[in-house]
Amino acid sequence: MKRPKILFSILAIIILLIPGLLKADELPAGLKKAADSIDPLLAYQLTRTMASPEFAGRLTGDKGYTRAAKWAEARFKEWGLKPLDSTSSYLQPYPSPYTIIDQASMVLHLPVNPGPEGQIKYQTIELEPEKDFLPLLYSDSGYLTADLVFVGWGISAPELNYDDYAGVEVKGKFVLCFRGTPDRRRTEFQHHDEHRTRMKVAKDKGALGLIYIYPTAQANPNGDWLKGFMPGMITEKIADQIFKEINSTTSDLKKALETYKRPISFALKSRLTYSVSSRHFPDGTGYNIAAWVEGSDPKLKKELIIIGGHFDHCGQHLGLLFPGADDNASGSAVVMTLAKALASLNSKPKRSVMFVLFGGEELGLQGSTYFANHLPSGFEKVAAMFNFDMEGAGDGAWCGISEEPPALKEAIERANKEINIIRGINIIRGVGVRSSDFAPFFLKGIPCASIGSNGPHLAYHGTGDTIYRINPEIMGSIARVAFLSIYFLANN
Ligand SMILES: [Zn+2]
Repeated sequence: MKRPKILFSILAIIILLIPGLLKADELPAGLKKAADSIDPLLAYQLTRTMASPEFAGRLTGDKGYTRAAKWAEARFKEWGLKPLDSTSSYLQPYPSPYTIIDQASMVLHLPVNPGPEGQIKYQTIELEPEKDFLPLLYSDSGYLTADLVFVGWGISAPELNYDDYAGVEVKGKFVLCFRGTPDRRRTEFQHHDEHRTRMKVAKDKGALGLIYIYPTAQANPNGDWLKGFMPGMITEKIADQIFKEINSTTSDLKKALETYKRPISFALKSRLTYSVSSRHFPDGTGYNIAAWVEGSDPKLKKELIIIGGHFDHCGQHLGLLFPGADDNASGSAVVMTLAKALASLNSKPKRSVMFVLFGGEELGLQGSTYFANHLPSGFEKVAAMFNFDMEGAGDGAWCGISEEPPALKEAIERANKEINIIRGINIIRGVGVRSSDFAPFFLKGIPCASIGSNGPHLAYHGTGDTIYRINPEIMGSIARVAFLSIYFLANN
């Protein structure tokens, strides 16, 4: 009776092993190999190319951007992805006016020993581009000297019983204000926090320009060129020099506005000479660059998963290149790396996957909005959208996702079990003026996931956002976790 005992033992061992052998979360060998073969150096090299001077900071509409778009199109083609539409083009054009700033200067005239009106002596301070100030990258040309008026958040919202312009005369003057709203929790203020809204209000009130106070001077093309209007920004450090005349500081004023949630506005004795030489191009054309991989299931391939990131940055102005290596050559590189990995996979997932490099994010989500409003034909639905914005710095990643469907979270969690790079998953409850390219899709009810590296994202919108700050490993890890997440979701 020895043999049956042995057989029984072997059988018992096999039964014990079965759950391990068929563990639901075990990766098929080919998929594991494909994820492991994603090369961080490919993402790094793509980032370096995008951030190179050849593409002039990728300002949507400008020739540097268009050159870059054609370069990306050639990569998609080379890697065997399908073009966006039947005309065999990977480019989706849309109108994109843009402005280039050639020269700019700011001189502050600060009162010394302020005495009675008419007897003020001024000390002048010449500000340095980027260190102290920058024009907003849609300023009209002009050469003006005028008084400054502080107008809090620069918001005029009588319907919300709030008006930073009440009681001050801003006609023929420069208004000075912060970015933000009196109450972050009150979403009804959000529309007033759009740069476009704030500029239009200031211009309609007769101001010559709006000067933001920011912690650092940042390149910002998010707004409309308005004839005769000269917006700009100065640093908090420079604003502190201005507020000396009222014995206050930038942080005191901001704190007071945030604490009492009521306007604090006043005319200043300080004056500003502001000069800008710019070229506006109202007939610019922007491009989204899109390529896709067909699903393997005859039915489910009609469903699409969109993988996107913004391709654009702020351009080249005042002789300064804003390379946007982290923001967002890095995210574009992750999207492209994923495209190559998925295209070279032997067994494709059931659903189709489209990779899109969006134009005009920096101009206010223009490319992704256009894409979401002109979704490619031939598909029955968009099952999910993944967004990648700033993936180049740090040692971990954050992730925001739609609450539904549960399969989205499950796919990302399962992928992260293998790669272990995402440090937290938050539910996206709503979108606002600071959202990235998932927003237009989220608003259409498409399930979204947005992934970013944990930073620090130094030199944000500065000339220092160069390839030298980029870490290939973090891009590689994010590409791997995204690759598996997308595969699980597309194949589920
Ligand atoms: Zn960005």
